[in-house]
Amino acid sequence: MSQVDLSFELFPPKNPKQEATFWRTVGQLETFAPSFVSLTRGALGASTDHDQVLFDLHQAVSCRVAGHITTRGANRDELSKLLGEWHQRGIRDLVALRGDGEAAADELPDATALVELAHELGGFDIKVAGYPETHPKAQSRAADIAVAKAKVDAGASEILTQFFFEADDFLRYRDDCAAAGIDVPVVPGILPIADYQRVRQFAAQCGATVPDRFEVIFEGLEGNIAVQRDLGVDLASELCDNLNREGVERFHIYTLNIPNFVTKLAENLVREFAPQPIRLVS
Ligand code: FAD
Repeated sequence: MSQVDLSFELFPPKNPKQEATFWRTVGQLETFAPSFVSLTRGALGASTDHDQVLFDLHQAVSCRVAGHITTRGANRDELSKLLGEWHQRGIRDLVALRGDGEAAADELPDATALVELAHELGGFDIKVAGYPETHPKAQSRAADIAVAKAKVDAGASEILTQFFFEADDFLRYRDDCAAAGIDVPVVPGILPIADYQRVRQFAAQCGATVPDRFEVIFEGLEGNIAVQRDLGVDLASELCDNLNREGVERFHIYTLNIPNFVTKLAENLVREFAPQPIRLVS
């Protein structure tokens, strides 16, 4: 019998208004008893407030908190120091990432090297990124999956995927990961659409395909964000439903820090995937 297991991704607020919605979102999501909440991060130094938000989040919630960390903007010693501080402050979960742009001469080259470093330091549960539709800069799909395998071999305990909109894209990726010997959970990253035009732009950058049928669904709704969000939740619920039929019970949800939005998706998932009461046969 299927049971839902959720994690939520947040980003650090950039101003007092965003701060208020951030904490409101956190409060709402915590009621779903997530496996963890994670906090994204730019290159080191890009957001000086990031670490404070991470520590505040760790204090505020009862679930585990994962800090995203990237190889860009810091050398090996600086990353080691940062990880030491995080560990001291109680952070035990990482999402270890390359980050975008080319590596400077003294930076770790890729996420695999970062996983190796965090594993060597010890004391962290390390999650990494995966790409159901292949990373746009990967040499090939096989090479991309080989990178995912290398990260797992280096110590990663689960793969959180880039968002996608068709269940088949994820299921093929999960199969290909299994065929490559990846034996850790591959967790679908679910992005409910809050603003269709922005998602289209973002998807193009990330190499994620927006299905043609979405054009029709969102046609004429520019400026009607409330309706777009309702549709976004419905489409994401349908996607999770299709995945659940194929045995997927863990979902990593991109929250966009929007209160009263992802909660609707989470409510749908909890309701739909809750164990059904046992029927006694007379
Ligand atoms: P790797 O595991 O090192 O590589 C993954 C694949 O990308 C490989 O196939 C690799 O060959 C290819 N690749 C990546 N860059 C290049 C390149 N320059 N040249 C050739 N091939 C390349 N970014 C942030 O900055 N902050 C975040 O908090 C953040 N969170 C994320 C969370 C999730 C769940 C996901 C899916 C992505 C996130 N990203 C974040 C984006 C991520 O940093 C980029 O996708 C980055 O380009 C690749 O990171 P990686 O850790 O997957 O890299």
